[in-house]
Amino acid sequence: FKIPTPKNEPVKAYRKGSPERASLKAELARLKGQELEIPMIIGGKEVRTGNLVSIHPPHELKHTLGHYHKGGAKEVNMAIDAALAARSSWENTPWQERAAVFLRAAELLAGPYRDRMNAATMLAQSKNVFQAEIDAACEMVDFFRFNAAYLEQVYSDQPNSAAGIWNRLEHRPLEGFVFAVTPFNFTSICANLCAAPAQMGNVVVWKPSDTQIYSAKVIMDLFMEAGLPAGVVNMVFADGPVAGEVCFKHPELSGLHFTGSTKTFQYMWKTIGENIHNYRSYPRIVGETGGKDYVLAYKDAKADQVATALLRGAFEYQGQKCSAASRAYIPQSLWPAVEEKLVADLKTVKMGTVEDFSNFVNAVIDERAYDKITAYIEQAKKDEGAEIIAGGNHSKEEGYFIEPTVIVVKDPHYVTMKEELFGPVMTIFVYEDEELDATIEALDTASPYALTGAIFATDRLVINELIEKLRHTAGNFYVNDKPTGAVVGQQPFGGGRASGTNDKAGSYLNLLRWVSPRTIKETF
Ligand code: GLU
Repeated sequence: FKIPTPKNEPVKAYRKGSPERASLKAELARLKGQELEIPMIIGGKEVRTGNLVSIHPPHELKHTLGHYHKGGAKEVNMAIDAALAARSSWENTPWQERAAVFLRAAELLAGPYRDRMNAATMLAQSKNVFQAEIDAACEMVDFFRFNAAYLEQVYSDQPNSAAGIWNRLEHRPLEGFVFAVTPFNFTSICANLCAAPAQMGNVVVWKPSDTQIYSAKVIMDLFMEAGLPAGVVNMVFADGPVAGEVCFKHPELSGLHFTGSTKTFQYMWKTIGENIHNYRSYPRIVGETGGKDYVLAYKDAKADQVATALLRGAFEYQGQKCSAASRAYIPQSLWPAVEEKLVADLKTVKMGTVEDFSNFVNAVIDERAYDKITAYIEQAKKDEGAEIIAGGNHSKEEGYFIEPTVIVVKDPHYVTMKEELFGPVMTIFVYEDEELDATIEALDTASPYALTGAIFATDRLVINELIEKLRHTAGNFYVNDKPTGAVVGQQPFGGGRASGTNDKAGSYLNLLRWVSPRTIKETF
């Protein structure tokens, strides 16, 4: 068997007057015209508790999209039981059939599910049409297609044999269940945190973020329509600590697949450590956590290119990407040109609902995020060493709107140069041209994270030197490009230090974590 060579799903443009635009608009209207009731899906069955929580678009708080049935410890236990009951038959399903389920999911999503996945992501997660398309449609399709090919790559990795001896590796799934805890900011990541272990023959208990449940339902429908057997992925809605308490104490926990905050991940790791004697096997711990991602420009960089990278890197999806550019180091000689273009371009940026496709900026995800981000902005307004040169206004009346905000600071260790805000705020430190080494030192030590980083320079020797000197500051490093937008199959994604275990989503390296190989030596 040979898995078809994967290709990245082309991004649709949704131009004015195009049929694809009309079709997506119709889907947005259809979803807005109904109040969905969303049950949990456990063992392939809908589970309702009657404890309903309503879902509102972050950019239009008065509207109700639907309600989900919130569960608790009982439902998490049911999900674990359902997963374990499905384990043996899924493990024994030939890998080609497992791959076929996800290849079918890719085709369904590239076709009939595309509008629904995009519209759900736009409405409930406040993503504009382009951000939704590259995430909920293209990246998710890519994960399914590329992982199928990587699965073949993993399974075909076999040791040498010798005369009279046949050595082989049997890539067994992990023994137990994988707990997938997923974020709100990328619908594709949510799907992949379940799909990657499932493809390798594992069964999954999935707890989506409360703020992503609306599109999580579409993912679950997609999995089931693609033929994923009942119980392989079980979607349960519960408070994080409640779900954690049950899963981390369970002897059959075989892995954690997580994307979210560093603090939560560290709590999870500690809890797993505390329970280590209870498990049958050491759980695999895979996490992608925070970022404080940087742009460093050298004096010979192209100012226009830097300004565009800052705008797109910092403010696409309201900066709610782990990879978002949130601190920049710009040389004094380049700064006037960068500032002029950045401030001018920001004036053209529109903010509002997702249904007006000309809005570049929409709302941040919820009140907690809004309050956290705006507290930093208000502090910067008061601090002597900080100057807001663009944005700074915000309101939570209609939705959680925060203007793209640029802060220029005198100290490269200012609080917003260090801490992850996860919002539309970019902090810039302007350095003296001759102080590049001190700036690199400040960049390296300011924050504990090491997810993405970008340098802008023309001189080849300087580029080489920066690549070398910044080796451990980012798991995804960009030369003359913004630090966001990793493409599956092209830039495997993940970082080190406080940013995660760097198990590279969108590559075979991630899939390797979901197998426990058995070496078989047979002599003749
Ligand atoms: N993979 C995304 C990117 O390269 C970021 C994912 C995240 O925010 O977790 O921009």
